[in-house]
Amino acid sequence: MSEVDDNALRLPWHDNLWSHMAAGLAADRVAHGLLMAGTPGVGKRRFAWRVVSALLCRQPTATGDACGTCAGCRQRAAATHPDISRLTPEDSGKAIKVDQVRRFSHTLHLTPQYSTGRIGWIDPADALSISAANSLLKTLEEPPAGCHIVLISDRVSALLPTIRSRCQIWTVPAADPEAARRWLTAQDFDASGVDPDSLRAPLALRARRDADAVNLMAQWDKDLARLLARRANPLNVAERAYEAERRLWVDWLYRRCNDLLLATLDAAPATLDGAIADGARRLGRRRIEAWSRHVSNAARTAGTNADWRLVVESVFIELSQYVAEATRKP
Ligand SMILES: [Zn+2]
Repeated sequence: MSEVDDNALRLPWHDNLWSHMAAGLAADRVAHGLLMAGTPGVGKRRFAWRVVSALLCRQPTATGDACGTCAGCRQRAAATHPDISRLTPEDSGKAIKVDQVRRFSHTLHLTPQYSTGRIGWIDPADALSISAANSLLKTLEEPPAGCHIVLISDRVSALLPTIRSRCQIWTVPAADPEAARRWLTAQDFDASGVDPDSLRAPLALRARRDADAVNLMAQWDKDLARLLARRANPLNVAERAYEAERRLWVDWLYRRCNDLLLATLDAAPATLDGAIADGARRLGRRRIEAWSRHVSNAARTAGTNADWRLVVESVFIELSQYVAEATRKP
């Protein structure tokens, strides 16, 4: 969970829960086994990582949060902190096995590098097989001095009662719909038409949108490859792009302009569709540069009253013309 920056860990609907945690942190009486519960999409992992960050910090702030600048914070942010041990399924969606738990427990008993103590991160805790869970019990009951074990689960009821009873349970609440709407809007997420129930799990909403965006971009890539091969009608391609969120499409378009140019230098990113790279080489650098200028002008109208459908169409019609020209005289 180190890919999220520290500010993104502070979710407004966690404020109340955090104030209790911060009091515990300040008084140095945070339980050694912490079970983070709550429905999917409410930010359990962010809350848990915020706690871990605070536990590993040498000079927490007034709100109890990690400072972000001490040696411990820097190593944590760089994902090189020596005192964090993770226990997760070896294959996503599979069970955590008993020999993994043995290795994990062994690591937690080693002397920590820093005086802040070791952290064990178990995610998701409901993936522990029964024998794995049993093998964890002793460590959970008598953890090494200064060690904290953080367990995360969407389905606390699926955990062995003996695991649950050895942990302090922190239930991360669902978001207040209005707070969630404000937070999502600040993240460039248009939440205007979203129903209040879905707003209670804002991170699930965002994950779904990101997955949708991946699918959309794959479709646009396919369209671009077909346009470059003269196998698509620019107006049909424009129709699909027109319906999408403008910012997402413009970002994609800029990125692909750049990729096309790189492809003519044989420096395209390895992830670029081979058919697009071939198309770029057939088109040639000069035509791609000319099209890129047109794209920049078009993109600048995204926030204006310009007829967006015509703008999007012009982008693909122009590209088709260059492709036709390149086919006539390569
Ligand atoms: Zn710090």
